[in-house]
Amino acid sequence: MIAPRVFQKIDEIRREVVAGRQRGLRVGLVPTMGALHAGHASLIQTARAECDVVVVTIFVNPTQFGPNEDFDRYPRTFAEDLALCESNGVDYVFAPDRAEMYPPDFRTYVTVEGWDSVLCGASRPGHFRGVCTVVLKLFHAIPADVAYFGRKDAQQWLIIRRMVRDLNVPIEVRSVETVREPNGLALSSRNRFLSESERRQAPAIYSALQEAKRAVEGGERRPEIIEKLLRDRLSAVPGLRLDYAEVVSTETLRRPVKLGGETLIAVAAFLGSTRLIDNIIIDVSP
Ligand code: AMP
Repeated sequence: MIAPRVFQKIDEIRREVVAGRQRGLRVGLVPTMGALHAGHASLIQTARAECDVVVVTIFVNPTQFGPNEDFDRYPRTFAEDLALCESNGVDYVFAPDRAEMYPPDFRTYVTVEGWDSVLCGASRPGHFRGVCTVVLKLFHAIPADVAYFGRKDAQQWLIIRRMVRDLNVPIEVRSVETVREPNGLALSSRNRFLSESERRQAPAIYSALQEAKRAVEGGERRPEIIEKLLRDRLSAVPGLRLDYAEVVSTETLRRPVKLGGETLIAVAAFLGSTRLIDNIIIDVSP
């Protein structure tokens, strides 16, 4: 395995990527905040299979964290991240520092109006504004053919897809299935904060989502009934505090009167001070 080349400057990574594309190479981009795990590896492997050049970005983006969120304690594991990139055949790692991405006179932000204040956006004001801004900056720094996002962060994927369409960004947005532990818990960089007992409770989130999916497969079409089922199941889990359980269309991010089409069943919950999210997406026949 060859170690990936690491870049810290926007101009330098951009020059490299532009040169690759001019030679006809297909470039895939995987944006991350580091603390890489098998979920990130799955995105990288998908990019590796579909592209000639794979670029991973590692940047803990300060603008997507609220004032009382975990920016300071967010795990930073650069040496291990590089090893994971190397063993998955990544060509370039872009790891800018804060000043490279946000110089002191920075003042331009991107918002996907309305979609950034629902679901996770309701309890994390400003979060998706930070996400959209940093991702659009990364798309400009690394003008790739295709960018890969995990479905675990479904709202993020859908918002970025919307931003790319709305702003005519010349990049294809692809989504990759959520990678889980054998017990169903979605892999997350934040899982390391769970205590042993919280770890035992955490798989209840995916179990509840699967039960909700079975109810829809069994013919239930009333979103409020599915949401109640999730609330009932999750309120019975010791130590778990539900943030939201919602059923929305992936086209509108709104709760439909009656389920139909591609539907996102999404949950966010706290176990102790750790906020976990998970979801299931299903195609609902009318
Ligand atoms: P993060 O580093 O947590 O910001 O995530 C970077 C990318 O990895 C995002 O597109 C996430 O959706 C994706 N990702 C994180 N966890 C998983 C997972 N368990 N399965 C698939 N993709 C994931």
